[in-house]
Amino acid sequence: MSLTIDRSLISDRAAAFLDQPAFDLFIDGQWQGARDGQRFATVDPATESVITHVAAAGEADVDRAVRAARRALDEGPWGRMRPAERQRLMLRLADLVEEHAQALAEVESIDSGKSAAMARAVDMALVVDTLRYYAGWATKIEGSTQEASVPYAPGMELVTYTRREPVGVIAAIVPWNFPLLVAAWKLGPALAAGCTVVLKPAEQTPLTALYLARLVQEAGFPAGVLNVLTGDGANAGAPLVRHPLVNKVSFTGSTEVGKLIGHASVDNMTRCTLELGGKSPVIVLDDCDPARAATGAANAIFFNQGQVCCAGSRLYVHRKHFDRVVADVAAIAEAMPLGPGLDPAAQVNPLVSREQMQRVCNYIDIGRQQGAEVVTGGGRALDRGFYVKPTVLANVGPDARVVREEIFGPVLVAMPYDDVDQVAAWANDTPFGLGASIWSNDLGRVHRLIPRLQAGTVWVNCHALLDPAMPFGGLKQSGIGRDLGRAALDAYLETKSAFIAV
Ligand code: ADP
Repeated sequence: MSLTIDRSLISDRAAAFLDQPAFDLFIDGQWQGARDGQRFATVDPATESVITHVAAAGEADVDRAVRAARRALDEGPWGRMRPAERQRLMLRLADLVEEHAQALAEVESIDSGKSAAMARAVDMALVVDTLRYYAGWATKIEGSTQEASVPYAPGMELVTYTRREPVGVIAAIVPWNFPLLVAAWKLGPALAAGCTVVLKPAEQTPLTALYLARLVQEAGFPAGVLNVLTGDGANAGAPLVRHPLVNKVSFTGSTEVGKLIGHASVDNMTRCTLELGGKSPVIVLDDCDPARAATGAANAIFFNQGQVCCAGSRLYVHRKHFDRVVADVAAIAEAMPLGPGLDPAAQVNPLVSREQMQRVCNYIDIGRQQGAEVVTGGGRALDRGFYVKPTVLANVGPDARVVREEIFGPVLVAMPYDDVDQVAAWANDTPFGLGASIWSNDLGRVHRLIPRLQAGTVWVNCHALLDPAMPFGGLKQSGIGRDLGRAALDAYLETKSAFIAV
């Protein structure tokens, strides 16, 4: 483990995990190095120092992992396991994650930069709930019986029914902003449905997926049900998507990579779920309390340093309250203490990587060049660690790049509007359609506005709340399909129709 991590700030469990001599791939229930021996470094965004090295999977490892996942379905006990037994294993895994939640949160924090306290309260709590929610579904998967009326076989007596069967081998490719949480969004429905999984965490944040694999082993899942391949997109992700034995890809990440994955999936007729980028509007109507709206708007963009696909990155405030709300959001931003994710008081933590920090700072500069006023923030903070000051931009036109493109950082663009029709049109004038929030106490206006917004989720007087039972996903360039809820489970099941002449 890196000497720069202060052991007094982390639990013994986290220290013991980080201290292990090698971080190998988890394939077929075994820990093994990459076939070609390649490894890569993972970096602590708060100190910029190397935490440890992990195995870098290549095409040969992808093939081993996918074949192990296929064998687990066809030959191992998993394919024949009763739903109640799957449910029991999933509940045991959820209990283990809960028991290790503090250590998992600390490891997530060190690897991604995010607040350990938030990772514990939000990410890990939702991982546990998601696993428990889907554990319940394992025993509630139902087909249906029909009364058939085949027109050209009038005298024939038929028994007809449908059954739901696991899609098969799932490639779960996840991003670095909520590494373990998004992995659980894929793993939960996949395991409930009886699928097997090859999980590829993002190269920036490989560690909690490896920790999870240890817990999966401890819970007693048969070999090959979960396989974890650490590695990058080109050498591990792309061959995984192309592998002919993969039946479904479940991807969360950028729209750009999502499109590549979508194209590659169609070549093999691999099913795919794509949860992609966003540029979600926060709409403050004129009837609401501006102070409350400002607190909500600040949380909507600054939580997890804005590295949230449904971050409220466009703020539309009725002109009557505009100056007040923008000033309040700026004051909140300026009062947020800055520090590493392991500091429980710090609310501004580093971004995940140097590349991401530079990308976000570059967008702030583009905003300035296109005439934006920098109300607060405006670039990097400190010269060690990947910190970016929470930033509010105003006076930007609707075509400015900072209004149209996903920044994925703590950068808010604020715009005044004059009437609801205008703000509904502006809110929808984006290639994305992931989330939106409305701040208002006028029920009638809220209910009229919700159907008009092109977004997979609309929050009212809150933003970015997630629940395992509520489907999450996007319209337009924000993706195809849903994570969470019954909607996600359905996408891990095929429907087979049976006709029996009796
Ligand atoms: P970001 O731009 O936020 O880093 P990406 O969409 O590049 O997000 O990455 C999300 C996940 O997709 C990561 O696990 C990454 O390794 C993986 N990935 C990147 N490129 C590819 C690719 N061509 N095929 C499959 N997976 C990829």
